[in-house]
Amino acid sequence: MSQYADKPKDELEKLLEKTKKDYQALSDKKLSLDMTRGKPSSLQLDLSAELLALPGKDAFKTASGTDCRNYGILDGIIEAKELFAPMLDVSPEEMLIGGNASLTLMHDAIWRAMTFGVPGGEGPWGKEEKVKFICPVPGYDRHFSVLENFGIEMIPVAMTDKGPDMAKVVELVSEDASIKGIFCVPKYSNPTGHIYSDEVVDSLASMVTKAPDFRIFWDNAYAVHFLFDKPDPLKPLLEACRAHGNEDRALCFGSTSKITFAGAGISFMAASQNNLMEAKKRIGMQTIGSDKINALRHTMFFNDQDGLLSHMKKHAALLEPKFSVIQSIFKEEFEGTGLLSWTNPKGGYFVSIDTLAGCAKRTVELAKNIGVKLTRAGATFPYGNDPKDRNMRLAPSLPPLEQVETAMRAVSTCVKLASLEKLLGVKAS
Ligand code: PMP
Repeated sequence: MSQYADKPKDELEKLLEKTKKDYQALSDKKLSLDMTRGKPSSLQLDLSAELLALPGKDAFKTASGTDCRNYGILDGIIEAKELFAPMLDVSPEEMLIGGNASLTLMHDAIWRAMTFGVPGGEGPWGKEEKVKFICPVPGYDRHFSVLENFGIEMIPVAMTDKGPDMAKVVELVSEDASIKGIFCVPKYSNPTGHIYSDEVVDSLASMVTKAPDFRIFWDNAYAVHFLFDKPDPLKPLLEACRAHGNEDRALCFGSTSKITFAGAGISFMAASQNNLMEAKKRIGMQTIGSDKINALRHTMFFNDQDGLLSHMKKHAALLEPKFSVIQSIFKEEFEGTGLLSWTNPKGGYFVSIDTLAGCAKRTVELAKNIGVKLTRAGATFPYGNDPKDRNMRLAPSLPPLEQVETAMRAVSTCVKLASLEKLLGVKAS
């Protein structure tokens, strides 16, 4: 197929007429499809059905005899730390078990930093004139809303297929003491699916930051969410930071939201002892301890690392065909057209697509008008502002496979229609 931008006007006009007809045919189908948020499907949730019967009325004690029905153990039971430490590539002693959402742990880490400061810092971030964070883009909208909520200025830095553009990151953090941190989704990134390379991890761990209390928010939400066979490797950040004498720089997060039940799983954080002590001091004011019964049922359900990974293979079997259909449809519809580029993740929950400049919002609007809900264009950028209006996030996990297929055909038609309108300088009626 030839590049659309090179086609003569009359050919583009013919294509526009054909695409309008395709669009009308889709509209007549009265579709109702939702590709907005990365939620597990009900078949995925069924994989953890047994959890609902655990721990059972007589099994409420840990191996060391702690009664999980009662108060106590602020940072969580050792069984849960042992089970989830390998996910973050840390030792159980570096773990803290939280509540049902890693987002809460991240939000509260920012909150504590703003209110009280962090170890190695010179006081509350909130007392400084300006606080800034680096945000690799495209990225996760909820990270951006947490930062925006605290009035933290976000500096977008482009993602590459190996992680953020580190030349830019290193330059920025070396010059500006008000840049206090960076948010990263290092493996099967949201939304591109890319994995940070060893060089990027080393560079983050070793770079010279003007702020002495710089923090890397390492949101490893998809650490074990591989689509093929086994998890891809990721260089452990905490270890790398320690090797470079910066062990307080790393704050690592994860949860079982997309392993067991979204919103009813358990979350965890890993960090240096300085950071853990500071966190525990403040978290101890918020709670007497997290839900040990839920932690216990998770450890009983998985038993060990092998149990966890074989469970993730079952998720992969349900998810991979959905990712694969996206690849084959886009290849068929767009290869060689120059209208769309898309990522091909080996794990995670999303595919990131880039249209011609100025076409993402229009594509989302066109899709909405025929009953296909897509994540808001711009959501993958701080302040909802994608300066080139190109990027969109596709979330194929929730709908059944046939619906993903229908939705992707519909999205393809919408991308083509938006692109042809752009190339011809017209707006379809
Ligand atoms: N981090 C990332 C990168 C995510 O994509 C999500 C879920 N969409 C979360 C965190 C939320 O995780 P939790 O349910 O543990 O708050």
